[in-house]
Amino acid sequence: MANLNATLTCPHCGHDAHEVMPTDRCIVVYECPACARTLRPKTSDCCVFCSYAHRPCLSVANCQSCGEDASTNA
Ligand SMILES: [Zn+2]
Repeated sequence: MANLNATLTCPHCGHDAHEVMPTDRCIVVYECPACARTLRPKTSDCCVFCSYAHRPCLSVANCQSCGEDASTNA
């Protein structure tokens, strides 16, 4: 089974949060447990893991479900 653990680094306070990536959806809104600020993915990314984690989300290759909005801007 794939390793779903990822380290999400908050761009505001630098806090490293260890999270488990869901495989059935993408996390587009994430609240930093340290500073409570809301993280959102960068424009070209499908989820906060792609933008702020040390690795992109597992579904980045088959991310059509969550990439529909982004693709309309491409
Ligand atoms: Zn933070």
